[in-house]
Order: sequence, then structure tokens, then C-alpha cells
Amino acid sequence: MGVKPYLLNSSLVGVVSQRLIRLNCPHCLERVNPGPAELSLFQEAWGKGKREMPFFTEGRGCVHCNYTGYRGRTAIHELMPLDETIRELIQASCSAQQIRNYAISQGMKTLLQDGMERAAKGETTLQEVIRGTYYGF
Ligand SMILES: [Zn+2]
Repeated sequence: MGVKPYLLNSSLVGVVSQRLIRLNCPHCLERVNPGPAELSLFQEAWGKGKREMPFFTEGRGCVHCNYTGYRGRTAIHELMPLDETIRELIQASCSAQQIRNYAISQGMKTLLQDGMERAAKGETTLQEVIRGTYYGF
């Protein structure tokens, strides 16, 4: 953004990313089996074999959702508090991806993980999470 690293480090306490995703319509929800590409991305975010696989749902479309299957929106988030290491990475002008990779290695929940957890609870579809997090295919 053209801001000097020392200025960022003296004023920044954390970085939040947020995306809006559509919620499943509760009036026409039905169980679905995701395709292999969606399932693979889900498993990557969910942790293969670490947790029981949920079942997935989507709205089939009805008068309440104008036949879209979705009704309402919610936000998914990724929160990266700045620790000493991240401040050093910023000072060394490391790339955003390097800083993000470090934060992930320290346990930061990614946008994709947050979204996939929402899909696992039946709040939205895998496709909607993938679309909203730029993994779209
Ligand atoms: Zn509906």
C-alpha cells in the first residue's frame, strides 16, 4: 500500500479479512453430496481424518428464497493479530503471503476454514464458501 514498514508496525495491532457469503434457505434445505473437487478442498481445510465428516446441505429453491436456495447473508473472517515475529517480517518487507503463511503456521484460522466450518454446520454450501474465498472453479 506504499506505507513505510515502521509506520505500520507502530500503529497496527492486527489484520481482519472478511467476506460475505449467502446463507442456505431454511425452508427448502436438503442433504447433498459434494463433488470431488469441492470435497477435496473441504477436507484440506477441515483436516483429513481429524474430525468426523459432516453431511452437507443446500437449498433446493422455494417461494421463500425466490428459488435461489439462499436466504440472507453472513460474514466469514480471518483474524491475524500482530506478534513480534510478524512485526519483524513487516520490518523486513516480507510479502503478504510470507506473513500469512507464518500466521497459518501459528494456528490462524483461515477464511476458507471459517467458511468450511459454516458449511459443515449446514449454514451455507461448499460452493458458496469456495466462491467467497477466491478458490472458485
Ligand atoms: Zn428456499
